[in-house]
Amino acid sequence: MPKGKNAVITGSTSGIGLAIARGLAADGTNVTLNGFGDAAAIEKERAAIESEFGVKAIYVAADLTKAADNAALIKTAEEQLGSVDILVNNAGVQFVSPIEDFPDEKWDLIIALNLSAAFHATKAAVPGMKARKWGRIINTASAHALVASPFKSAYVAAKHGIAGLTKTVALETATFGITCNAICPGYVWTPLVEKQIPDTAKARGISEDEVKDFLLAEQPTKQFVTVEQVAALAVFLAGETQSSITGALHQIDGGWVAQ
Ligand code: NAD
Repeated sequence: MPKGKNAVITGSTSGIGLAIARGLAADGTNVTLNGFGDAAAIEKERAAIESEFGVKAIYVAADLTKAADNAALIKTAEEQLGSVDILVNNAGVQFVSPIEDFPDEKWDLIIALNLSAAFHATKAAVPGMKARKWGRIINTASAHALVASPFKSAYVAAKHGIAGLTKTVALETATFGITCNAICPGYVWTPLVEKQIPDTAKARGISEDEVKDFLLAEQPTKQFVTVEQVAALAVFLAGETQSSITGALHQIDGGWVAQ
């Protein structure tokens, strides 16, 4: 396992990203947190990771919709931790609307954050990984990288794009000790899912109370995936012995896309 390695986890002030950061830290990896939120709450999480797991944890407040902020995030982590060995491209947002009403600015935001940010951060991190002949790039994609749902045009397009980016980067880096994989979760109960309840109810003409059951109808287990389960998969993929697992899209969706 990658003890003493250094990781950047984008969008790790909440939800899946925070769980992955904690999972990697528990495994002995120094972590760079990133994302928005209340400054005091973020500092509390950062300090808790250091004290609970005995690793170094830093926070970089980059807005990853901006290309330059992605490069700056990687540079800061390299300067403060010494390297970026593990990059988890996880930051993402959702917006739910029929395509004819889908606001242009929401399309641009989702493509910028859920797709282009992974390109910019990967581009910045790969030279160091190639030089050290070791790297793990893990992209939080989605079941929506493999199948679509209505009213999520930007999200589904971005996540399908992430699947293609994952495979391409895997091929380019395969002889450098670097792997690039995507994790494809089904529904995980996080603020991202909670925030889409009212718009999903509106777009589908159902009550907000019915949305939870509606989402779980997709998942044969009838249960939300947990952030800890997704984190465990990310920690596994970051492992030393997983060097032959690359270019793959790993479903963790309670059977959703098996249907
Ligand atoms: P979340 O809302 O809990 O976390 C999103 C994170 O991204 C937060 O830390 C937030 O501050 C950060 N973020 C938002 N805008 C940013 C920006 N401009 N720059 C930097 N960081 C920014 O959501 P989550 O459910 O944990 O989602 C994490 C990832 O998992 C996303 O890529 C999402 O698409 C994916 N995913 C989620 C689910 C699910 O059901 N929750 C399912 C499949 C995939």
